[in-house]
Amino acid sequence: MVTAFVEGWDLVQTLGEGAYGEVKLAVNRETHEAVAVKIINLNKFPNIEESVKKETCVHRMLNHETIIKFYGSRQDENMQYIFLEYASGGELFDRIEPDVGMSQLDANRYFKQLISGVEYLHSKGVTHRDLKPENLLLDDNDNLKITDFGFSTVFRFQGKERKMEKCCGTVPYVAPEVLSRKPYYAEPSDIWSCAIILVALLAGELPWDEPTYSCKEYCDWKDCKITQSPWNKIDNLALSLLRKVLLENYKKRYTLEQIQKHQWFNKSFKSKKAGLSRYPSCSPSDSPSGTGPFKRLCSRMEMSPPNTASPRANISCSQPELRACDYLESQPDARTDRKDDSNFIMSFSQPVHLDNMLLSSQIQGTPGSSQTPMQKLVRRMTRFFVKTNQEETLQEINRVFDHLGFTWKKNTPSLLTVSTVDKRRTRLVFKTSLVNMGENLLLDFRLSKGDGLEFKRLFIKVKERMKPVISKVPPMWPLHPIRPDSLT
Ligand code: ATP
Repeated sequence: MVTAFVEGWDLVQTLGEGAYGEVKLAVNRETHEAVAVKIINLNKFPNIEESVKKETCVHRMLNHETIIKFYGSRQDENMQYIFLEYASGGELFDRIEPDVGMSQLDANRYFKQLISGVEYLHSKGVTHRDLKPENLLLDDNDNLKITDFGFSTVFRFQGKERKMEKCCGTVPYVAPEVLSRKPYYAEPSDIWSCAIILVALLAGELPWDEPTYSCKEYCDWKDCKITQSPWNKIDNLALSLLRKVLLENYKKRYTLEQIQKHQWFNKSFKSKKAGLSRYPSCSPSDSPSGTGPFKRLCSRMEMSPPNTASPRANISCSQPELRACDYLESQPDARTDRKDDSNFIMSFSQPVHLDNMLLSSQIQGTPGSSQTPMQKLVRRMTRFFVKTNQEETLQEINRVFDHLGFTWKKNTPSLLTVSTVDKRRTRLVFKTSLVNMGENLLLDFRLSKGDGLEFKRLFIKVKERMKPVISKVPPMWPLHPIRPDSLT
């Protein structure tokens, strides 16, 4: 039985997991409208409330086609719900083929959208501070949407700019000055992260673990030693742009305006037959040994004392931030109904009231694969159909996971949590669900913790070993409505 979330809405699927909770897809039974609901258990992370408040304050004042729309938020006892535009295209990370990247055509298109989004954020005086492919989602039309404003803050308020002091972000993506523990400017540091993202798009790997002199790859880049990977996979024009952006001296670093004038940015790339398709496939033959720097630790960090990574809960350790809420108050286009976000619910065709909201325990109990007449599956490459039935599939999975040395537990008969470590001995946890799609059984793999590309490398190994049972049904984008009785 489907558990209603708000009357008329069903929580149908877990879209993803973050450090502080899950993001689920809620679908309206009548209109089939879909929203993403970020669910945070405030009890589990006692110091997170302030941080969530800030995230929602910043996010709600943003309105741009490249930013995931913020519909509203509400708190029910200890559960915080954040309602967001649903990005059915999944994560940009999923489109990057490990150690290969994607075509210049696609990279250029995504990069342009990213720059447009960051330009918008900066025009509003907001810095994101954790730009990385995992925080860039895609909509139905494959348009990029920036999300996760957990580290964002206001750097310009009423024309007055302040420097940032908090050292936060995801280390391989952060600018050198962010790690310097001195105050730094917000805009150039976001721009640096955009360039690292561009390297990931074009080469399928990150250039370095961290932009410090203790990192050989970074020193090589500074010394113009660019004959090695990833640079040898990137064409000269794109490299010339990267040269101008990945400059240690933030004063010399290209601005967004300069980036937009660069030749590579404005070049029209033609779709090449030989190049990667729009949604590159993860064929095992494409998978190298996995030695690229994408095996780097990519989990988000907030750095307080040197060499310690503290969770977001420690957000108040650094300078008092200018509160986004204060900034919001002053914005003419700011919503006036902030105290009661229930209006967002009203904007859907089915008039429902927050009184209808079920208890958080019921919501948590809603299985990710609940039945619904209109289940939509987020676009994801890490899935395939199998020819075998559920029992045979589970046996096969167990065999493969054993062979690969994974440990796993069965959460439900159709959901497994799998743990392992990647090449850097970093913990990697993913979920495997068996979804009955009418005639076919779909095996869906979703990252819970760890590095995205390492996860994809593991997925390729699993897929390779499960080849004998894989069915030819195209797994990429099965968006057909699923019969209510067809889900496991
Ligand atoms: P973290 O703080 O660890 O980065 P988080 O708790 O802030 O994570 P998000 O990064 O916002 O959570 O979301 C976790 C995952 O859920 C995303 O990587 C994505 O796969 C999925 N997701 C989040 N928001 C949406 C959305 N609006 N539409 C579709 N999927 C989403």
